[in-house]
Amino acid sequence: MRKKQLALEVIERLKKEYPDAHCTLDYDKAWQLLVSVRLAAQCTDARVDQVTPKLYEKFPTIEALANADVDEIEKIVHPCGLGPSKARDISRCMKMLHYEYGDQVPDTMEELLKLPGVGRKSANLVLGDVFGKPAIVTDTHCIRLCNLIGLVDNIKEPAKVETALRKIVPPEEGNDLCHRFVNHGRAVCIARRPQCQACCLKDICRYGKSSEITFK
Ligand code: SF4
Repeated sequence: MRKKQLALEVIERLKKEYPDAHCTLDYDKAWQLLVSVRLAAQCTDARVDQVTPKLYEKFPTIEALANADVDEIEKIVHPCGLGPSKARDISRCMKMLHYEYGDQVPDTMEELLKLPGVGRKSANLVLGDVFGKPAIVTDTHCIRLCNLIGLVDNIKEPAKVETALRKIVPPEEGNDLCHRFVNHGRAVCIARRPQCQACCLKDICRYGKSSEITFK
């Protein structure tokens, strides 16, 4: 099966398996998603979702966070790990949003990447989830699953996986597909112990097919 055809089949099957594709980070406003994504580095989404309500209770706006003492931010985000660098990035990012962008989160990749602490993964997430633009979020689940399934060939670098996926995934499907990769990566295609026997992709997945003999 060619990669484009494989991608379309994966999209359809995962849609049936996970009809409700959405980001697992809680947020009400675009800037809050930027904060949550920064906090989610090397931390679970569940932990981030526990911490952010406390942060927004104390600093409810971009302006409040922009003017907050970095140490105060760090005290609150400490449970997410990497407190000093995350607090510093959040502070700088909110300052830039407040003082240079008029409290508006930009809606282009180019502008988003200028914000401190915002990389392509975060920018894609905001473009897709907030602005409904074509997006490919290459997080750890996406990269692992794409290599196992055979959508990419031994590519681990996020930007290269993104480029490869953009060639074979219809633009309007990319954002939801990546959310479904996260769902599938947590529920079935678990890191280092994929549950291939229970997987809806086992007959089309490169790894699933190659390990078929071990099912018997
Ligand atoms: S068949 Fe196995 S390796 Fe392939 S996606 Fe499913 S669980 Fe992952």
